[in-house]
Amino acid sequence: MTQTILLKNRPKGKPTASDFEFVKDDAKLNIKDGEFLLETAYVSVDPYLRGRMNDVKSYIAPFELGQPIHSGVIAKVLDSKNDAFSQGDYVSGMLDWKTKQVSKGEGLHKVDASKADLSAYLGVLGMTGLTAYLGLTQIGKPKKGETLVVSGAAGAVGSVVGQIGKILGLKVIGIAGTDEKVEMLKSEFGFDVGINYNTTENMKAAIAEATPDGVDVYFDNVGGPISDAVLFNINKFARLVICGAISVYNNTELPKSVSVQPFLIKNSALMQGFIVSNFQDKFPEAIKALSHWLAEGKLTYSETIVEGFENIPQAFIDLFDGKNKGKMVVKI
Ligand code: NDP
Repeated sequence: MTQTILLKNRPKGKPTASDFEFVKDDAKLNIKDGEFLLETAYVSVDPYLRGRMNDVKSYIAPFELGQPIHSGVIAKVLDSKNDAFSQGDYVSGMLDWKTKQVSKGEGLHKVDASKADLSAYLGVLGMTGLTAYLGLTQIGKPKKGETLVVSGAAGAVGSVVGQIGKILGLKVIGIAGTDEKVEMLKSEFGFDVGINYNTTENMKAAIAEATPDGVDVYFDNVGGPISDAVLFNINKFARLVICGAISVYNNTELPKSVSVQPFLIKNSALMQGFIVSNFQDKFPEAIKALSHWLAEGKLTYSETIVEGFENIPQAFIDLFDGKNKGKMVVKI
């Protein structure tokens, strides 16, 4: 039997369980020459999937109603008629939210289960690790001794950004949503200062206090009022790396924000959005650096692993309530 998760409705505001539909199919999956049969092992749930649920033009096509959702997946080859993939191999790539599926291998690459936990290939050694490394180094251009502020700091991307900042010799301040996460930033990931935005009344003042030398690099995962507060504290020639804006992904009306232009002008600052795939040619360099730091013990990672195919939609929804620490992954 194969189970599939379809997009049933385009969410209005925060997604709900009723926006997803589960279907079962008892038909046996047969493979032809060049194909192989995959069994899903881990599914990545990511905030950007929310954007694909809207019917709007973006850097990537929207999901279609009544069709399977897909995201980063690690799957095991159960049977193969493709010379490049053998039974027992594990692969990573964009695959449907299905328990089993047939592939020809397009866009998939093998991952080595003996070198790292399989789930790590969806996080620190996958899209989120690449995003952290390339966003910070290519746009943030950090210099030793500078001050880096990271929002969404206890999440998949943010926790890696902060650690890379420390490896590169920066002072690192992380912003997250609970005291437990703030503690984790300091004790597990080596951040210098953590700020809980849910219990801090004046974020502008709290960031000023945490950054007596001002903010040189801001790695923005959340947008909205948190990022507005950072703007008041940026230095001359600051670099603002616009990676994500989770605080506004569920908005149904245009958000109210401060005007960024005066801050950028008076500080000669750079604000640049990016999509990790912009830097595809630098993926090998990034994976090499991340693997090296992991092996040396300079970099660590945290995961929230939810179990069960039926829990994929809820794990995705929970991202918007901050239920994850580090990378949110579903184990099937
Ligand atoms: P996370 O692991 O950081 O999970 C999301 C976290 O966002 C939650 O745990 C929560 O933490 C925080 N959050 C949720 N709602 C809000 C809110 N209203 N205000 C502030 N924080 C909130 O996700 P990722 O690390 O996978 O992604 C982080 C960001 O990076 C996302 O915006 C994502 O879209 C973006 N991204 C961009 C890429 C690119 O190529 N540009 C690639 C990958 C990700 P807390 O408890 O602290 O609130």
